[in-house]
Amino acid sequence: MSLELSRKASAVKPSSTLAITAKAKSLKKSGVDVVGFVAGEPDFNTPKNICDAAIKAINDGFTKYTPASGMDELKKAVCDKFKRVNNINYDTNQVVISNGGKHSLTNVFAAILNPGDEVIIPSPYWLSYPEMVKLSDGVPVFIRCESSQRYKLTIEQLDAAYTDKTKALILTSPSNPTGMIYSREELEKIADWVCKHDIYVVSDEIYENLVYTGEKNVSIASLNDEIYKRTITVNGLAKSYAMTGWRIGYIGASVEIAKLISSVQSHQTSNPNSIAQVAAIEALNGDQSSVDMMLAAFKNRRDLIYEAVCSIDYLSAIEPEGAFYLFVDCSEALKHSYKGIKLNDASDMAKYLLDDYNVAVIPCADFGFPDHIRLAYAISEESIKKGMDRIAEFIKNLD
Ligand code: GLU
Repeated sequence: MSLELSRKASAVKPSSTLAITAKAKSLKKSGVDVVGFVAGEPDFNTPKNICDAAIKAINDGFTKYTPASGMDELKKAVCDKFKRVNNINYDTNQVVISNGGKHSLTNVFAAILNPGDEVIIPSPYWLSYPEMVKLSDGVPVFIRCESSQRYKLTIEQLDAAYTDKTKALILTSPSNPTGMIYSREELEKIADWVCKHDIYVVSDEIYENLVYTGEKNVSIASLNDEIYKRTITVNGLAKSYAMTGWRIGYIGASVEIAKLISSVQSHQTSNPNSIAQVAAIEALNGDQSSVDMMLAAFKNRRDLIYEAVCSIDYLSAIEPEGAFYLFVDCSEALKHSYKGIKLNDASDMAKYLLDDYNVAVIPCADFGFPDHIRLAYAISEESIKKGMDRIAEFIKNLD
């Protein structure tokens, strides 16, 4: 058939994090001893109190439609959490529950963008943002943030990127892939800039509980009324509660934006899974000790992997302050060759690491930095040690 398929869909790059993760999982299943520093997916099981709530929901027959934008009880739990943890006041009519953080984000872009609207994305960035923006007919505008600026954007860079088409800025703190966190002072400056230019901030706070500095993450919407009005706060249960497979994300925004997102969602997917919503209520309202336990484990893993990378020639990184990713600069390693073959970018390194050393890493061309790899340390200390030994061996074998 010669019928043309959607140009927009055809232009989407499939998610390489998910593709590499699937490959590593399937190799493991077939018996290969692969260490996977791949998707940001906690290796912990979902805490028992959350699973029990879901089992009870099934047994109670809580298996029917809920309101398309989520159950009132869950919206209330989200509002309470916004107040308690983030110091932001949202009413339930400002909250929409969706099928995971990705769904929440795509809904946001569907609600705020018109064709040609520009969205500023600080680079390195999580690879799905540009594709999501393009799917809503927006135009991603990248600001390259170097390691010398701790991969964080500056106001001068924002000034240079701004045009009369700029509609929004995406902010991710703690960051995927760098683990950097914007301080209150930095956020205040960004908030002033955003208000001055009257654009939106899409604040992705999915890693808010994974902070190793001992300080609380600051939500930009909490700073003042002006930035509150312009912020869409996006979050989800996946990372904080080891609930990646349950698919519950949520947003807090103005009533107008929440209404638009609810309408879109009512046609696209209806409600998120009813059982997962009950589980999410328990996650947010119930015992939080498992969150602290997981945070402590991730901190130890952060220390371990950072130390390991620092001890390997040709690799360097900045110690992550949050999330569970180490963003590794491989530019020195890429000056060498492997088995006599020149390494063009970190994708070549990733390929040889997987083929010859059974280590899966994420090459970061799709994150805007082709000479970097990302190592997710949401795996056991033993696996981290084994994987880092293998990476060290690979580096030793470079010509
Ligand atoms: N957000 C996670 C990551 O960056 C999950 C995988 C994905 O959706 O890209 O690894």
